[in-house]
Amino acid sequence: MNANFLQTPITYLKGVGPHRAQILQSELGIGTYQDLLNLFPNRYIDKTQYYTIGQLQRSNADVQIVGKIIHLKTVEQKKGKRLVATFVDDTGEMELVWFRGQKWIRENLKLNIPYVIFGRCNWYNGKFSMPHPEMELLTEHEKGLKITMQPIYPSTEKLGNSGITNRVINKLQQQLFIETKARFRETLSDSLLHDLKLITKSEALFNIHFPKDQALLAKAQFRLKFEELFYLQFQLISKKMLRKQKIKGFNFDQVGERFNDFYKNHLPFELTNAQKRVIKEIRADLGSNAQMNRLLQGDVGSGKTIVALMTMLLAIDNDYQACLMAPTEILANQHFNGIKELLEDMGVRIALLTGSTKKSERNIIHQQLESGELHILIGTHALLEDKVKYKNLGLAIVDEQHRFGVAQRSKLWHKNEFPPHILVMTATPIPRTLAMSLYGDLDISVIDELPPGRKAIKTVHRYDSNRLKVFGFIKDEIKKGRQIYVVYPLIQESEALDYKDLMDGYESIARDFPLPEYQISIVHGKMKPADKDYEMERFVKGETQIMVATTVIEVGVNVPNASVMIIESAERFGLSQLHQLRGRVGRGADQSYCILMTSHKLSSEAKTRLETMVRTNDGFEIAEVDLKLRGPGDLMGTQQSGILNLRIADIVKDNDILKTARHYAIKILKEDPGLEKPENLILRHTYAQIVKQKNIWNYIS
Ligand code: ADP
Ligand code: MG
Repeated sequence: MNANFLQTPITYLKGVGPHRAQILQSELGIGTYQDLLNLFPNRYIDKTQYYTIGQLQRSNADVQIVGKIIHLKTVEQKKGKRLVATFVDDTGEMELVWFRGQKWIRENLKLNIPYVIFGRCNWYNGKFSMPHPEMELLTEHEKGLKITMQPIYPSTEKLGNSGITNRVINKLQQQLFIETKARFRETLSDSLLHDLKLITKSEALFNIHFPKDQALLAKAQFRLKFEELFYLQFQLISKKMLRKQKIKGFNFDQVGERFNDFYKNHLPFELTNAQKRVIKEIRADLGSNAQMNRLLQGDVGSGKTIVALMTMLLAIDNDYQACLMAPTEILANQHFNGIKELLEDMGVRIALLTGSTKKSERNIIHQQLESGELHILIGTHALLEDKVKYKNLGLAIVDEQHRFGVAQRSKLWHKNEFPPHILVMTATPIPRTLAMSLYGDLDISVIDELPPGRKAIKTVHRYDSNRLKVFGFIKDEIKKGRQIYVVYPLIQESEALDYKDLMDGYESIARDFPLPEYQISIVHGKMKPADKDYEMERFVKGETQIMVATTVIEVGVNVPNASVMIIESAERFGLSQLHQLRGRVGRGADQSYCILMTSHKLSSEAKTRLETMVRTNDGFEIAEVDLKLRGPGDLMGTQQSGILNLRIADIVKDNDILKTARHYAIKILKEDPGLEKPENLILRHTYAQIVKQKNIWNYIS
């Protein structure tokens, strides 16, 4: 079928008038024939099965039953009324219920005549009931075409209310297949079809909408998932290859004085093997004539900062400037102070720019940055303001990347005439599965080794009722000279309540840990930055033993003497956040602890999260569990990525297909980068269409 024909507006399809067209557009984003064709069913119902009422289970499943209505009545309820039918077969009785369209149903339903009903069964008031069943007279049912697998399409309330039911969508698909003669242009090469034993595009589309049997449905799903993931990987990999060929980067060919001086004279510890390896990988990028675009993953405490610092020294040795952007002021401050200390006496000029930098200071920074006097600029989002202009930015490092949108990443890019090398650091371990799709166009380095001498953090789960014991434990730790974090959730929707929790918690801690023996810091988002810094400073210097805070301390804060992390209402945190918070301790040589405090009321998901935290310290393992619990859509930072919008594949469940797709995308692009071989023309053509549509996720067959 001609591709242009599929661009026909959906209004032209028989059965779709302007009104339906408008609703299809607003509810499902369907504007053309093609959009409808690509509306894939969420699931299928096996209509080969018939149940008896006696066989029904309390499982809320969709079932098909043959029986008769013996009685109809209208029941008044608070809002409106409902129509209730008593439906029986040889094994028992149940109810059918209607809340809408009662008049029509009352007039048309026939009593004591066999019907086939279909729908979801609920257990209600000690009886099974089926609201708004699909109904058909048994005689009609026996005459009709047997659809074995009934597709269920995505729906919305508005669609339902407008009469665009699943059955209507199904009819529209039928109409579309009639008008197109069910023939669709192939989009994968013969060799792919052959190697992977894929069915053709036309067969796949037919069987996804009208599966003949389970086996063909599975083949159709495999083929379409493969195709979707293949072009996703294809796009990412060709982008990466293109960048390596075309985007010339500054060449840092010198490993100069500063890098060597630091390595020999200022490095406060021996680098771990993982750190050495990563620095080597980065150096290879920086000397390759191409722009670096590298993601550095390393669990909390794995020592990413020193890698960042040494990379910046490479830039400076080659007469370029470098910047380091952090997601919070506290973290920017800490990087600034830490790096300044490490670089002491080395003659590197470094400045801090955040939202609270005074205007006069800011102006000086702007000037020195433009004149090239400044070597390193560290800061927050403030680095992205238009006024910030570099003389020659050669390297941009983004810390804790998941806090920034992808858009901001690219904004840094365009600060300069040429793109600087980019190093993105994240402490959120991204499961390989997800990394391949989210960051498939980046190179990835992993620090998979903690600095030596670290003891694994011990994690326990305690109920609020055990608080006194926990406080006793804290006192013991403080006696040993340790410091404690107590963290409260802060969720935007209930900010006021959370704030109250925090303050209540602070007061109760202040009662149990009285002055002057105990000193307590408190840090939260409502404080002035200067006050926050002051409180933070006191804790960093060891003047206070307890830090009560909201999640502002989640990211990156480094106080090696802190050995206990208490997380209040731990059930309200996500896994990656819990893991991040736990990473604030265990940074020194002492045994560290993480105590997850919760009420007794826990959802099963919350239980899984807590159990996972207690079981393991491995960030990658935790990330995998998180991905399984929440799916890729909710993971931080993936919202903008479009992974949500995959039509049929699931990054987690279809991991095997993803790997296969990636393998073939790499193989084909390596063998034939320009897709010039005749067998690859079909890929080139399809990919060109995708590019034209700008985005793989809008990709249409
Ligand atoms: P993160 O990867 O979480 O940013 P940091 O860079 O803050 O970790 O490092 C955590 C702590 O480990 C810091 O106190 C740092 O000085 C220390 N550290 C980093 N690398 C090493 C190493 N190779 N040997 C010993 N300590 C190290
Ligand atoms: Mg860090």
